[in-house]
Amino acid sequence: MTMPPKKQTSPTQPSCGKCDSLIKKRDKSISCSICNIPFHPVCYNISDAKYEVLTEDDSLFWFCNSCRAVTVNIVNKLVNLERRFEAVESENTSLKSNMADMMKQLESVQTKNKLLEEKIAESIEISKQNKDKLHLKIERKDLKIENLKVKVDAIEQSKNNRSVRILGIPEVYDDGSLKDTILSIAKENLDMPDMKCCDIETLHRMGRVNQDKPRDIILTFTAQSMRDEFYKNRKKSPKANGNQIYINENLTAFRAKLFYDIRQLVKRKKVHSTWTQHGNVMLKIEDTSRPIAVYEYSTLQRLTTGNIYEESADEMSIGFSDEYSEGDE
Ligand SMILES: [Zn+2]
Ligand SMILES: [Zn+2]
Repeated sequence: MTMPPKKQTSPTQPSCGKCDSLIKKRDKSISCSICNIPFHPVCYNISDAKYEVLTEDDSLFWFCNSCRAVTVNIVNKLVNLERRFEAVESENTSLKSNMADMMKQLESVQTKNKLLEEKIAESIEISKQNKDKLHLKIERKDLKIENLKVKVDAIEQSKNNRSVRILGIPEVYDDGSLKDTILSIAKENLDMPDMKCCDIETLHRMGRVNQDKPRDIILTFTAQSMRDEFYKNRKKSPKANGNQIYINENLTAFRAKLFYDIRQLVKRKKVHSTWTQHGNVMLKIEDTSRPIAVYEYSTLQRLTTGNIYEESADEMSIGFSDEYSEGDE
């Protein structure tokens, strides 16, 4: 806002804004800094001293009564505005401060979150390593257990080494004559006329009575040599009352099952042949391959490509016959 000059020196002889009479050239006059209307200082009770100060100092303003009222109003409004501005400013500052606090909290949460994520990743890694270790331990234990099973089975089998399992001898009411039947078979079919009652340590039938087929007989000899001769001569195809008789090695339940399963593989042409030798289950993968003794299923699985469990897992039958021995010893 540019302020007009305070001294009225207009040649048009203006009139006083208060008394309305002309302001002559020699009269003192003072003009309002806003409306520019001239006044006699006397009409506004302005002393000579005050008049001197006001007219000499350009930085001082003087307002007439009506302009003063407007000015006060404007100033009040300005003051109000300033206060409101200050209030907004203060609110803004507080907001900024709150915002800064929140940012700090957010940063702290983010830092904690990151730490937590790192810890979780660490835990996952550790538990994965533990799991791997555990798996390894379990695998080793499984291997040990299988080795133990094989050992126990070998011990069990060694008890059976002096015995044979005989199939196909008809059951009669008086099984007391069983010894005589055996001795008669030995004499007439197996070229063992010297075999006597005292060569037989134990002789008994196995399992429950079956109407359809006679129960297997376990024959244990007092001497290993006698048993081996009896078993060796089984190929002379003995008969009893016209029935075909089969003489097999007396295998443990486990080996009998293993032998049965391998015979199924022979039928499916996955294995060339299988037989037993001194209580061990033997097999040949090809006609020309070397005979291998099998003591557990893991070896069998390694040797054969197909899954041996798929068809025979549920079959517990221990059916002994000579049909299996495609490549007998
Ligand atoms: Zn006047
Ligand atoms: Zn004025």
